[in-house]
Amino acid sequence: MSATKTLCPYCGVGCGLEVLPPATPNQATHRDAAGTPIWKVRGDRAHPSSQGQVCVKGATVAESLHKDRLLYPMLRDTLDEPFRRVSWDEALERVVERLQTSHRTLGPDAICMYGSGQFQTEDYYLAQKLLKGYLGTNNFDANSRLCMSSAVAAYIQSFGADGPPCCYADLDETDCAFLIGTNTAECHPIVFNRLQKRRKKNRKVRLIVVDPRRTPTAAAADLHLAIQPGTDIALLNGMANLLRRWGKLDTVFIDECTRNFPAYVETLRHYPPELVARTCGIRLNDLEKAARWWGESDRVLSLWSMGLNQSSEGTAKARTLINLHLMTGDIGKRGAGPFSLTGQPNAMGGREAGGLAHLLPGYRLIKNSQHRAEVEQFWQLPPGRIAPRPGRDVWSMIRGIEDGTVRFLWIAATNPAVSLPDLRRVQAALRRSPFTVYQDAYDPTETSAYAHVLLPAAQWSEKTGTMTNSERVVTLCPQFRPRPGEARADWEIFAEVGQRLGFGAAFEFTDAAAVYAEFVQLTRDRRCDLSGLSHARLASGPIQWPCPATETENISSGKRLYGDRRFATPDGRAVFAAARAQGLAEPVDADYPFVLTIGRLYGHWHTQTRTGRIPKTAKMHPEPRLEIHPRDAKKLGVVDSDWVELRSRRGRARLRAQVTEAIVPGTVFAPMHWGALWAADAEVNALTHAVACPDSLQPELKACAVAVSPVARSPQAAAEDMTAPTHPSPPASSAYASKLQ
Ligand code: SF4
Repeated sequence: MSATKTLCPYCGVGCGLEVLPPATPNQATHRDAAGTPIWKVRGDRAHPSSQGQVCVKGATVAESLHKDRLLYPMLRDTLDEPFRRVSWDEALERVVERLQTSHRTLGPDAICMYGSGQFQTEDYYLAQKLLKGYLGTNNFDANSRLCMSSAVAAYIQSFGADGPPCCYADLDETDCAFLIGTNTAECHPIVFNRLQKRRKKNRKVRLIVVDPRRTPTAAAADLHLAIQPGTDIALLNGMANLLRRWGKLDTVFIDECTRNFPAYVETLRHYPPELVARTCGIRLNDLEKAARWWGESDRVLSLWSMGLNQSSEGTAKARTLINLHLMTGDIGKRGAGPFSLTGQPNAMGGREAGGLAHLLPGYRLIKNSQHRAEVEQFWQLPPGRIAPRPGRDVWSMIRGIEDGTVRFLWIAATNPAVSLPDLRRVQAALRRSPFTVYQDAYDPTETSAYAHVLLPAAQWSEKTGTMTNSERVVTLCPQFRPRPGEARADWEIFAEVGQRLGFGAAFEFTDAAAVYAEFVQLTRDRRCDLSGLSHARLASGPIQWPCPATETENISSGKRLYGDRRFATPDGRAVFAAARAQGLAEPVDADYPFVLTIGRLYGHWHTQTRTGRIPKTAKMHPEPRLEIHPRDAKKLGVVDSDWVELRSRRGRARLRAQVTEAIVPGTVFAPMHWGALWAADAEVNALTHAVACPDSLQPELKACAVAVSPVARSPQAAAEDMTAPTHPSPPASSAYASKLQ
């Protein structure tokens, strides 16, 4: 049997995979440690984005597909009861009945769905059509809110439209890579490998990494700027100040292609280099070196991800980075541009399909009346059906459960009982939710404990659909394994609910190809024009957008946006942001003197729902550790491997200490993917807060104030005297209280 070509379902790099069927009885290979036959995975050399490369997660993904699967619909009336297996008919009747009751009694705003960048585009699209179109609520949000919504807002504000302008070929041609807020080596390893290959071939290519931690990415850099958490805007404006002082500007580009430069220049006056170096906690020489390298390079490529995005000023941070590209003309040309790396495999497809509470399909905005009218007309809905205001972002959904205005919560393909900030508060809200549907491939997860209905979802390999990676390359992911039990594709579930609600032909689709064919029509003449794509065409190989219907040439990648220097704003000009730094939403104080920052480890993904079930990746990180600088550890009387307790205003966690100079003094780091299923009392989101960027509504998961103290015993030993986690009210006078509603 020949290999099936598909896309890795983990991160937004989007590596092409080839999967081969399990062993025949005579073959010893293609089996996992327990002897279960598994599909073999290897890199697809023909995939333009990854060229045959694959990291440990992609290589082992097939080992998780058969484990701990949710096989049948399950139902219960209260969270105290055990689940009972029911038919799909009974489960969906209950879902429909509760949807109708919630809609009738409290209106469409009482209904919410929280989806996922693990969705394929077809799943995303039908969820939008059901919620935003036919149910009349914009309350669809996705876990991409936690990942890259600041990048979306920044692109829209700076360029007039979303969409990363760069492509991976730029990694092969850049003179200087500027990585800020991204541990690319661990979180986007194949992108990092490609960059390293470029540096190996051309020793003059420089790598600058900005990160409070000496990550593996930082360790490989020519210059590591270990700034204090929350000082990114100061650093970027300080570099801009120097570039301007040295005359390293592309004045033609600034004059002809941008606006708001004078206001930006005015802002830069507040960032003299000496002050910036002090604020950031770095040497002036290093600040100057970073600015000099940027200014001397013909092609600067910047990469960023959650380190910038997960901030109460995430949009401003990303825009401040984009400013540097605008002032030096480093955009729309080979080897240059501001490149946001997406976390999830199809976060980009979600953006195309309108999969956040303020978006509509085709990079349209809810708040734009023309955009709403276009979608209403396409969906054959009466004018005014799509509500004019953005729906609830995920945190607003949690608040809605707390105040009784949300009566129906549908969670699909994500695990908010681990991944949301202020986790004890979230868990308490989920416990109070009148009706929660949880649609997932795996059970148990930490979230399945809070559901009234469990719907078994077919996952990657068991359904056909498309995904778009960070460089806008769309890949068809065909079904190649049978579905376990009674699992169904997410889009099929949404379509059936739409039909049971009486929306008839609008939700009649023969297959995923038909869903995609409808969706791409909504992208015609939009920035993300996919109207030339179909499942049939993608069966020949991945294709990068824009791909209008008129484009017949099979261009596979290498296209960059804004090569014509015309942006998507009304006047065609990109917009400089004049952003001043606000600092951390929750600064340290005498009671909580450390900044806690959190992040991913190489072998982890998505709260470990898959990677925790794969021996090879699980063994890579046997336990969660708290990284702490030796100077801080000494003050606390902590040595390596000691147990420490972390406390914030919201909760606590206990981890072993890892004493290391890899983290700056005053800051501690903990890995973020340990939920209650995988370690006792190690949920770092019990500590984080939900204060979010006002533009993107992305929470500041990357920084909160904590206290650290040594404890004598392990969490297991301490379990008896640990009281149930609580959610203390923050002091009324605190910065946190004033920002969090
Ligand atoms: Fe999958 Fe990302 Fe690894 Fe590529 S880099 S194999 S997409 S996890």
